Amino acid sequence: MDFLPIFMDVKGRSCLVVGGGGVAHRKASVLLDAGAVVKVVAPEFSDVFADLDGIECIRERFQHRHLDGVLLVVAATNDRAVNEDVSYQARARNILVNVVDNPDLCNFIMPSILDRSPLMVAFSSGGASPVLARMLRGKLETMIPQGYSRLAAFCARLRNTVKARIDNPSKRRIFWENVLEGGVAEKVLTGDEAAAEILLLALIENENTEQTGEVYLVGAGPGDPDLLTFRALRLMQKADVVVYDNLVSKPIVEMTRRDAERIFVGKKRGNHTLPQEEINTLLVRLAKEGKRVLRLKGGDPFIFGRGGEEIETLAEHGITFQVVPGITAACGVSTYAGIPLTHRDYAQSCIFATGHLKDGSMNLDWEALARPKQTIVVYMGLHGIEILCAKLIEHGLPDSTPVAIVQQGTTQNQRVITGVLATLPGIVQIEKPEAPTLIIVGEVVLLRKKLAWFHPKIPSADAG
Ligand code: SAH
Repeated sequence: MDFLPIFMDVKGRSCLVVGGGGVAHRKASVLLDAGAVVKVVAPEFSDVFADLDGIECIRERFQHRHLDGVLLVVAATNDRAVNEDVSYQARARNILVNVVDNPDLCNFIMPSILDRSPLMVAFSSGGASPVLARMLRGKLETMIPQGYSRLAAFCARLRNTVKARIDNPSKRRIFWENVLEGGVAEKVLTGDEAAAEILLLALIENENTEQTGEVYLVGAGPGDPDLLTFRALRLMQKADVVVYDNLVSKPIVEMTRRDAERIFVGKKRGNHTLPQEEINTLLVRLAKEGKRVLRLKGGDPFIFGRGGEEIETLAEHGITFQVVPGITAACGVSTYAGIPLTHRDYAQSCIFATGHLKDGSMNLDWEALARPKQTIVVYMGLHGIEILCAKLIEHGLPDSTPVAIVQQGTTQNQRVITGVLATLPGIVQIEKPEAPTLIIVGEVVLLRKKLAWFHPKIPSADAG
């Protein structure tokens, strides 16, 4: 973080703008809107200043005494020497200074703002690209309608009432979420605040009688945060508690609500931090405490993810839940490796299997796997790769069948190792790919030569 974002109270405080052109005029207007006492100093003023009531225009060149008693100064002249002088003098006096379009001379920057007072969104690119910040502002402009000003004021008015009636902070947060996402907000936005208030008071009554905790079982995809769904993101921002394991990439965990409690229940091979049954009961307990629980899982929750078991327990306890599908490793990882799982010339079907070893062997329907023109995707198969390759050959696949192992697919650590059924176990011993890894068997692997498109930044990461 290059700058600390803060919102500052400048009401009644003296603020100086140096410059008499259009930019200076814009800055003076913003300061005026925020309630500052604004002085503008310039030898000449553009006509636009005529419409600014309530500012003091000083028709002089900038002089150091203009900084006396000033909280902050904005220099908006087109004279570099003047801007530098303002910056230097202000810093010497510990006055906050902004020089327009010149981050080096600033000790604060003015963000691009979306004003829905009292709701305020500020955008900054830290001086890197003000245009980008403005573009983002434009995007949000369409998502946050003007009516949000009224909505925020409505919330402010009822805040104490709600606080007095619902004393549990986490329940109160859920309550407000429901208010803001449901009918109450709609009524305020259409202008019927009286009806909105009646509805809100009725909701408080229910709140005190009903258990409102719930669980969101969410698939986080294979690693790249861009592969999250909108719904996943929305619920990640909403949950009070996040229960996640080591398949969920760090940047994704970081995208959950900042003040949410995060519980790691990671599972590494043979080292179960928390047994599955305990995860199931943990989810039940948290929901019964009234919390919104995000159970975040790698890939898709219903594909080799035990998602089914977790919600079975929830259903038994009558807990409300919803399930959000995610991009499963087979889809995400193969795509980022440039391997289409089906292709008219090479594979008409695709089968997902788990290569998890049980008592040193892999209990799979080999006949069904070793079919021509079929792609096989094996999850959790690295440790059994020798058995896997040997069994597939034994059941009829040519030992020259192409195979790929993809390490940490879709992330910046993605690495693709390719070979054939006969050689892959040996190659793996040398290359030592790091978990998680996905194995893809079939002619489609050859297409990677032409179709590889994702090139992680790490040099020499790709051995394929
Ligand atoms: N529910 C998950 C799978 C959980 S099983 C899903 O739908 O993807 C865990 C296995 O998934 C790992 O052993 C590995 O085989 C595979 N896997 C998950 N993410 C992966 C990734 N980014 N790269 C390679 N394999 C991955």
